[in-house]
Amino acid sequence: MGKVSIGLRGWRFDEEEVFTEDGEYRPMDEMSEDTRKRLVRLTALVGSPCDACWLIHGDAEIQKCNPIEVVYGEPHYEAAVCREHERDFLYWYFEEGGKQYRGEEQLQDEFHEWFADGGRAPEGYEGVEHVDTDPADLPEPPDPDMEAMNVDTGEPKEEIDLRDVDVDQDYPS
Ligand SMILES: [Zn+2]
Repeated sequence: MGKVSIGLRGWRFDEEEVFTEDGEYRPMDEMSEDTRKRLVRLTALVGSPCDACWLIHGDAEIQKCNPIEVVYGEPHYEAAVCREHERDFLYWYFEEGGKQYRGEEQLQDEFHEWFADGGRAPEGYEGVEHVDTDPADLPEPPDPDMEAMNVDTGEPKEEIDLRDVDVDQDYPS
């Protein structure tokens, strides 16, 4: 079964669970709760500022923040970063003990704390092999039933109709 990223790199979805054979989104109530949570969360993350950029610039300079390109972790406790700061996340995850928080709610806070304390990947650190997929090439998250889901999608979304299928998990391996 194919895995597919939607909107952002990082999280992977079972293609057959999310899409019909015609490439249309299935009704959300046919998906598992975890899948539903992630899809709904994605709609809020796409177009939002990178966690690490935000820690640097804050709301006062929000226009200097890059948009999120990749998301790791659990919905609402995710680390969501731009391409530039993905290196820092991967360094923290693999080299600074971040991996112990895999699947845990602390992942976000622990990463933020490390980064806010000046934690950075050293010059030249590449981490895992770079996945050179532009999030603009990924399918956009479905429009959730706003009343049922009670989420604020805020940002306008770009038209995205290509799908990128590969075998990665929703954590770096
Ligand atoms: Zn950033």
